[in-house]
Amino acid sequence: MAVKNGSEFIWMNGEFVRWEDATVHITVHALHYGTSVFEGTRCYSTPQGPAIFRLQDHTRRLFNSAKIARMPITDWNEDEINDVTVEVIARNKMESSYIRPVAWKDTNALGLATPGETRLAIMTWEWGAYLGEDGLEKGIDAAVSSWRRPAHGTYTTMGKVGGQYVNNIYTSLEARRHGYMEGIALDVNGYVSEGAGENLFCVLDDVIYTPPLSASILGGITRASVIQIIKDMGLELRESMLTREMLYICDELFMTGTAAEVTPVRSIDQIEIGSGSRGAITKVIQDEFFGIVKGEKGYAMFPAVASSPS
Ligand code: PMP
Repeated sequence: MAVKNGSEFIWMNGEFVRWEDATVHITVHALHYGTSVFEGTRCYSTPQGPAIFRLQDHTRRLFNSAKIARMPITDWNEDEINDVTVEVIARNKMESSYIRPVAWKDTNALGLATPGETRLAIMTWEWGAYLGEDGLEKGIDAAVSSWRRPAHGTYTTMGKVGGQYVNNIYTSLEARRHGYMEGIALDVNGYVSEGAGENLFCVLDDVIYTPPLSASILGGITRASVIQIIKDMGLELRESMLTREMLYICDELFMTGTAAEVTPVRSIDQIEIGSGSRGAITKVIQDEFFGIVKGEKGYAMFPAVASSPS
């Protein structure tokens, strides 16, 4: 293993290479201009062996991101990439891990419009709770960022495009600099958008609210799963624009994401939310979510691809 938590093998452009050999040339377009697209996917240890949560959806979003960024992935189709992802897990003999597919534009010349090839790699490594184990139980402290999410039309919010993440990084770094675990961005109109790498849900008077796609959010796969859980539980969900004050007065607030899973937020801008700890509805949703991803509950709508390490 080349780095702490890193895997032994990375799949790169059609072959498995050792971690330390998965390198690119200094001229790649993506390095200069941000022309990469990526995914974050999780593999969980389940009673049936390691299983990748909603792999097909992540692969589809990767291909869509590449299409949006005009660097389509053409050397492989989605089914082939799903199979390769399972093989990455199997080869590395990992039970639970975070998977990072990344595609990038490769050129041998500078220039914005230089034609290039799309390359693709899939790596995996061990990654625990993104916002801390403690955060999952007690909730995290977050703050509204001074950085706004870019407006539709300035930026392709539906695609996970590498260069765009500089904005998210500003939000995240600002939060950490001021002692918060995560930052929350408003959209250009001042409505709540999302966390630096997570979608948001808040609960007020037993109704659960989440910002719509039109609030410059990424359409999170965890968000879609949580929406389904909420509906299946017979709870009321409203996708609506939210004002910043709504975050202050709500009873419960939580974030969702592949890395963050379902993480409660206990304070925003140093204002305590509800009782200042994980809310009751958040806990019910969190328990259901972890039950599903860990394979403890049958859920036909969440096909996980099981693989057996060989
Ligand atoms: N918003 C942003 C900006 C993200 O980077 C992510 C992580 N992919 C999310 C939301 C959550 O998306 P998902 O649940 O698909 O991981």
